[in-house]
Amino acid sequence: MVNGEIRIEAALATGSAEPFVRRPLMLRAPRADELLVKVVATGICHTDFMTRNEGLCAFPMVLGHEGVGIVQAVGEDVAGFDVGDHVIMSYDYCGACPQCQRGKPSYCDRHGELNFAGVRPDGDRTHSSTDDSAKEVYGSFFQQSSFATHALSHASNTIKVDKTLPLPVLAPLACGVQTGAGTVFNTLEVAEGSSIAVFGCGCVGLSAVMAAKVSGAKMIVAVDINPRRLRVAAELGATHGIDPADQPAGSTLADRVREMTGSGGCHYSIDTTGVPHVLRQAFDCCRPMGVTAMIAPGVPGTEVTIEMLGLLPGKSLRGVVQGDSVSKEFIPQLVSLWQRGEFPFDRLITEFRGIDKIDDAVNAMESGDVIKPVVIVDETFL
Ligand SMILES: [Zn+2]
Ligand SMILES: [Zn+2]
Repeated sequence: MVNGEIRIEAALATGSAEPFVRRPLMLRAPRADELLVKVVATGICHTDFMTRNEGLCAFPMVLGHEGVGIVQAVGEDVAGFDVGDHVIMSYDYCGACPQCQRGKPSYCDRHGELNFAGVRPDGDRTHSSTDDSAKEVYGSFFQQSSFATHALSHASNTIKVDKTLPLPVLAPLACGVQTGAGTVFNTLEVAEGSSIAVFGCGCVGLSAVMAAKVSGAKMIVAVDINPRRLRVAAELGATHGIDPADQPAGSTLADRVREMTGSGGCHYSIDTTGVPHVLRQAFDCCRPMGVTAMIAPGVPGTEVTIEMLGLLPGKSLRGVVQGDSVSKEFIPQLVSLWQRGEFPFDRLITEFRGIDKIDDAVNAMESGDVIKPVVIVDETFL
């Protein structure tokens, strides 16, 4: 340790669509309001590689925002954590803005800055190169940057979990699973006996399907272009599946959902694809007073067209961040549901060993072969 800094290994994003590069870096000592976490595993989420591929961050950058690990050091102003605690790291928020004060921290005024800016809240850096010749390094992604052996987090985005739980399995709760399940439980408040259509059966969509089943939805329509994912959706609770490749000429996806659900369409729909014409179908398949949740906004500047007359019968289109979840309360609830066998999110996970396997994991996710990759960073833990 030099000046409190530690040497870590990270999978560094060096440019748009460039493979991750394994590199030693220096990580600053935790400040008074920070925790140092030894990363055991990290999930990989679409936001990681969309941020990289679309160049939505400064480079080089340590990404990763579904980290789980063990607390190694606790800043003097951090309450409620001890060295050795097992933790999940989720999104961060300020706690002081109007939305945070209303208990909706995922809509924090500082959400973009705290989770995507690549620096600490005051603009300082957490990471640096091991030699002076290399460029500056950005970190603090979701105030964690979990594609590394160690991370700095805040009490606000760190959730303590029972030490008997298998940490790597819990990683996707930090974002993908929380987002899908939270949209059903917290945002839409899906009612027993209702109908819902879920467009896109990746981790977020399938988490929504599982949550809809827990909520007692009577009809759960899953839509995906990958027949294997539709089969998984059926196993997890979807009552109907639609593969757009089987679409009869002259009809739309929304027509098919409305035929299945009757009564002018379903009560709720969720678009997880970020594709404008799919979001349009998700909106059109809802009945009067129906609500459509939009989870993936596509790249900045993406627009969608909605017919104004279609909006008139009391319908709404609602953007959703992190499933409206207050992670410290919601993630333990999801763990309880999982332990009771009602929410088998672990079935979505395929493991990859070692941070040098991040590219394999990303490729498997992008090709559709794997629903949720979790990279095991610390193999000795297992
Ligand atoms: Zn805030
Ligand atoms: Zn994510």
